Formats: sequence, structure tokens, C-alpha cells
Amino acid sequence: MKKISRRSLSVLLIAALVLTGMFWFIREEYRHGRKWAMYFSMFNPEAEGELLDRNGVMLAAFGKEAHVYAKDWPTRVANYHVTGDYVGMTGTGLLTHFWGSASDYDFLYGIKNEKSGSLSLSIDAEANTYAYRLLSQYGKGCVLVMDYKTGEMICLVSCPSVDPAYPEEELEDGAYVNRALTATYTPGSTFKLVTSAAAIENVPDLESMTFRCSGELDIAGVKITCMEAHGTQTFEQALANSCNCAFAYLTYMHVGQRLMVQYATDYGFLTGHTIDGLYTSAGNYPTEFVGDPELAWSGIGQSTDQVCPFSMLRYVAAIANDGLLAEPTFLKGGSAGKTASLLNASTAKRLQELMRNNVTSHYEEEVDFAALPFCAKTGTAETGLGTSHSWFTGFLQDEEHPYAFVAVIEEGGFGLWAAGLLINKLFQHMIHSGTV
Ligand SMILES: [Zn+2]
Repeated sequence: MKKISRRSLSVLLIAALVLTGMFWFIREEYRHGRKWAMYFSMFNPEAEGELLDRNGVMLAAFGKEAHVYAKDWPTRVANYHVTGDYVGMTGTGLLTHFWGSASDYDFLYGIKNEKSGSLSLSIDAEANTYAYRLLSQYGKGCVLVMDYKTGEMICLVSCPSVDPAYPEEELEDGAYVNRALTATYTPGSTFKLVTSAAAIENVPDLESMTFRCSGELDIAGVKITCMEAHGTQTFEQALANSCNCAFAYLTYMHVGQRLMVQYATDYGFLTGHTIDGLYTSAGNYPTEFVGDPELAWSGIGQSTDQVCPFSMLRYVAAIANDGLLAEPTFLKGGSAGKTASLLNASTAKRLQELMRNNVTSHYEEEVDFAALPFCAKTGTAETGLGTSHSWFTGFLQDEEHPYAFVAVIEEGGFGLWAAGLLINKLFQHMIHSGTV
């Protein structure tokens, strides 16, 4: 009997070891599997591979003979801030970034001598090319589109850009900067979405309050102004009117600096983030005591507020997805269900309604969205030089096209009439031409 039980004990032990090993392998494959698919290495002169967009369009290909890029100029330039180049001139290019993951792959599978590999990106190169063409008509800026269900980045363009095949040609200043990931801008009224969340959760009678706007509000001798007198408004109407007076009052009278700082921090506006290991820029919000007038300005997205477009994308993507942020990625297939809770579900749902109301009660009067169910917020951010950055951010409330977006056009003027028009044209193109 003793012998048998000892034997069964060893069998159990072996089974436990096998199971542990399998568990470890599956866990590691889950964590790194998608990266391992890209197993070419900068240090391996034999490496051959391709970087493809979500539809199989070649963005870069390399082998023993040559390192090449997409054949046509518009595709190369529009997608430059995604692919980067073989020498790493931009810090956020995927070509150089994914080369670094080669050792992981070798370690587990031991296929160091494999000579070919390809990586399929989530980016739609054709939509990027279209977005870049639109953006370059307006000037400098960036456009980001992400699938808020899967985390897949569909578009990322930054203007001006570079032709990686002929980089020696004369470049515009700042062409290597990826404005979508590593720039920050004054957010203007798009930041009212953050102030709104703080108010929804902390001002008990918010929805029954009314706000009077005579076109200007005096706070300790400092004037906050609106484009026009908005009269008496509810909270919902004040957001749709983008009433500076109402939001300034709400910020310094009801929310206060401590909560504003807490919400800006919790929603990730003050820290940098990573996307597939690439670093994005941290933003800014006044965290030291600044007094009522400056606090009021900060609640309407002015003051020393600075926001990275990618941080705004995370925020609106989480609002669209009932508070859950699907981890953003450039890899086709998405982030394998990895999500993080960024907002309370009820707050996210209320913001969805408010952003839909912005469009149906105001923006649709001026822009023909051709029945696309946009939920959005405009921003016209004063630069201090007499010009304004144009912002448009939000998402499509559509199961088939679950896209969150941010567009920023530097010195582009009014939010709706530059960035808003651009996003509308891009989405009409993407959805009606069936590219996504
Ligand atoms: Zn007003």
C-alpha cells in the first residue's frame, strides 16, 4: 500500500509540475505573444521582414539587399509618425521600437535563425493618408482615431511630416516631432469634459442648477468672457453652449482646486503614458494655490493647462466605453481584452448623453454629419498670441464603428470649423468608402 501511495504521489507531483509549466507558458505567451510575432532584429543582418497596415498594405520591408518603405509618397509621409525610419530619427517609430523585442522571442522559441517576419499593425494606411491630406490643408497638428472596444489605433498622423525614403529633402521645422504622442497643447473648452465629470460627482444639485451668463463674469477684478450672452442655462445647456462664465463659476464656487487637481490626475492628464512601450507626454494643470480667477480659467481649459492629444484620446475612449479604457495598441487584433477602469460607469454614461446633446443641439446646425452619431466637444484654445488652437474630440456612438477621436489644428481658429470639419470629412470617408 505504501509503495502505491508513494507512486501516486510522484504522479501527482509530475502532473503539478507539467500544469505549472503550461500555465507559465500560456501566461508568457499571453503577455508577449503579439510582440514575439515581430522577431526580426536590428542586430541580425540576415533579418527580413515587413511592417503591414491592417489591410496588408506594406509600409516598410527590409532584407539583406535593401531597406525600403511604401512605394508611394503620400503613404510614406502620412504614415511616417507610425512607422518611423530605420535610423530612429523620430523617437516614436515602430520600425526601430519593435526591433528591440527580438531577444524575447529568441529566448522562448529559440528560433534565432529565422529569417523572415511580419507585423500587422492596426493602423489603416489609406485612412491615415486621407487624414494627412486634410490636415496639411489646415496647417500643423495631429489626428488620432482609436477603436474604443479593442484599443486598436486606426489613425495617427502628425503634420508636418517626413518622407523617410528621402529625408535629406528640406524639412519643415518640427517635422520629426510626433504631435499626437509627444506634444502638449492648451486644451481650451475640451477640458470642460474634465470639469464636468468633477461637477457631476461632487455637486449634488448640479442637474437642477441654472447658470446666468451676461457675456462676462467678474472674479476679483478679472474678467472671464463668452462669445455672446448665453442667458439662463441648465448645466447641460452650458456645456453645449460651451459657456465660459458658467464653467468658470462652477469651477471656483462649487468644485474647487483640490478636486480639479484630483480629477486631472486620476484621468491621467498629468502623467505620461505608454502605448506598446512608447512613451507619451505628461500634461499640466495648476497644482499649487492660484486663487479664484486663475482657478476659474483653469476649469475652462486655459491658465497653465496643457494636454497631450493622446491623453485626451484615452479619456474620451473611456467615456465612450462606459468608463473602461481598452489598452491602446498599434497592433492588429487589439490589446487582448486588457482594460482599466478610468471613470465611474454612471459618470461616463452621463458624459455620453451630454456629448451627444452638444452635437444634436448645436454642432449639427453648422456641420452636416450625414447621420453619423457623433458625441463630441469642441475647443478653441487661446494661445496668448491672438490665435487659437482648434480642437475636436469625442467618439461615434455606433457598435459597428466604435471610434474615439482627437484632432488638433494649431492656430486653426474655431474648434468646430477646423478640427470638427476635418473629423467629419475623415469619418464620412472612412465609413462610406468602407476602409474600416
Ligand atoms: Zn456664456
